[in-house]
Amino acid sequence: MTERIYSTESYAREMTARVLRIDADDRRLLLDRTVFYPGGGGQPHDVGSLWVGDDELEVVRVTQDADGVWHWVAATALPKEGTEVRGELDWVRRHALMRTHTAMHALCGVVWERYRSPVTGGNMKPGEGRLDFDLPDWQADDRAVIEEELNRQLALRRTVEIDFLPREEADRDPSLIRTKVNLLPASIRTVRIVDIVGLDRQADGGTHVSDTGQVGIARIVKVESKGRGFRRIRVAVADDPEPSP
Ligand SMILES: [Zn+2]
Repeated sequence: MTERIYSTESYAREMTARVLRIDADDRRLLLDRTVFYPGGGGQPHDVGSLWVGDDELEVVRVTQDADGVWHWVAATALPKEGTEVRGELDWVRRHALMRTHTAMHALCGVVWERYRSPVTGGNMKPGEGRLDFDLPDWQADDRAVIEEELNRQLALRRTVEIDFLPREEADRDPSLIRTKVNLLPASIRTVRIVDIVGLDRQADGGTHVSDTGQVGIARIVKVESKGRGFRRIRVAVADDPEPSP
């Protein structure tokens, strides 16, 4: 298995790790620990580089399976099993994804507060995301109201905390699963919770900024009707207000 550093330390952008296994056909490496997020919950996988000494292997894709986290590389020569490698994220892209992901959760909280409407789907890329809601009561004027409230909440610099709950405890709190479909397989015994303190608390595996102030200004770029009361809200976050060193 792979130690998932990103799960508890979203700001870790480098690591050293050991190659546990090699899949030469697919050109991918299983590592014993990683900062590379394999994707999930609407957040795309990371990209970046692995270094073996001075040799750089570009990480073009990251996936996970029962064995751990696989790093797909664009390289002809692969290191041997047991080799120590250094990994480094494309941090500009990842930090934009963290800001975008936190903006999405903040929007969940704002929409929930006003309409008690659950999310039915979502997706994101760096700087932009969309969430689908079951929102039969939506009026055209609501766009400006929601955008203003979203930015008011972000500007409060609410802390974003990561908690881990035993499955039984999480199951007793249905509000943690904000999506309509229960996305958590029964095999998952510990549930990771992302808590924007005072605004939104939900089960989630993704990487987030540590407080909502880091998101900066968020704009609702479009609200589309998807029929029968379903609405797709597209949100964009402005360029990095405080690029990390
Ligand atoms: Zn999420």
